[in-house]
Amino acid sequence: MTMTFLRNSIVITALAYAACSGPPTTTSAPHDAAVQDAGPIADSMPIKPDGSADFSIDMGRSQIDLSIGTEMFAVDSCELDPSEQCVGAAGERSVLRFSVETINLGDADISLGPPGDNPNYEFSQCHGHFHFRGYASYRLLGESGTEVLVGRKQAFCLVDSEPYTDEAATERTYSCQNQGLSAGWADVYAADLPCQFLDITDIADGEYTLEVAVNPDGLLGEHDPTNNLGSIAIRIGDPHLETPTEACPSVAPRYLDRIQRECDWDFVGNFDCIPGTQTGAGCSQSCGVGSCEGNAMIRVCDAASVNCTSGNALGSNDNRCGSACPLASGFLCPESGQLAVYAAASEHGHPYECNVAIRAGPISP
Ligand SMILES: [Zn+2]
Repeated sequence: MTMTFLRNSIVITALAYAACSGPPTTTSAPHDAAVQDAGPIADSMPIKPDGSADFSIDMGRSQIDLSIGTEMFAVDSCELDPSEQCVGAAGERSVLRFSVETINLGDADISLGPPGDNPNYEFSQCHGHFHFRGYASYRLLGESGTEVLVGRKQAFCLVDSEPYTDEAATERTYSCQNQGLSAGWADVYAADLPCQFLDITDIADGEYTLEVAVNPDGLLGEHDPTNNLGSIAIRIGDPHLETPTEACPSVAPRYLDRIQRECDWDFVGNFDCIPGTQTGAGCSQSCGVGSCEGNAMIRVCDAASVNCTSGNALGSNDNRCGSACPLASGFLCPESGQLAVYAAASEHGHPYECNVAIRAGPISP
């Protein structure tokens, strides 16, 4: 089955992207109004003594990458590990996923150094690397401003994901092995990462505010602690949050050229596969699976699931096999034997074609 999509051309610059994490797992799950105790935190982090670093948040990315989806969490999934406690229980959960983009708007770097034996770090089972404790916190507020879901303290691997201000250095300095955030750089935690969500299974439909705080306890010295909160209005029960095919709002391209975006995807169709077998879905001639024109990206879900989000996708891909054409693989065909395949312009608004093919068995590279 093939399908072609053509869209009006808009000039957009694709931005390089690096998230602080290992590859997203294909599982994901919920969280039961549980409060995670981040444990004792040592003070005196090795930051620049002049305090001229300044954390802030850009909620634009949270808005674009926002989704509500149903995800399954096995009893032994890392999300249920005591060190993570991202979900309240195993099984099927409803999760609110969002990306978080924190920025250093100050003149000085935040430099935390390598994890080593530093008690401010904890090892994340889900991400497979060390996180700085209590870097951010998330919570959900009801219409009257009351807290309905207490945010976990979210630990981060603090890294330079991408330059944010015009003054930002061109070279990336910090990584998970030497954590920090350069002046003018942003750290992006993408919505499809393990635990990058709130478990809203027990939350009634209605109007809410999602609030994100960076450096909520002031553990890291900074110039201005008054710009550390970001919030967005959310309607739980809004069907648009459960499908990636509605139109994107008019926002800066930097928010849209991402595989985690939850808008302006095209539904290509449902495809058969053999349950339990390694399967790939792509539109990449150089990968030998389908063909594409322009710069396409692909997302594959179990057709039996009611929604398809970056978090519950079986696989997704942007560029692979040395071309701009995508191939998602390394996942098992679900019990339903049906894949729901979505495609989108990787450079938002540009024309593209994605002629999808399905391939059973392992695919290399
Ligand atoms: Zn991480």
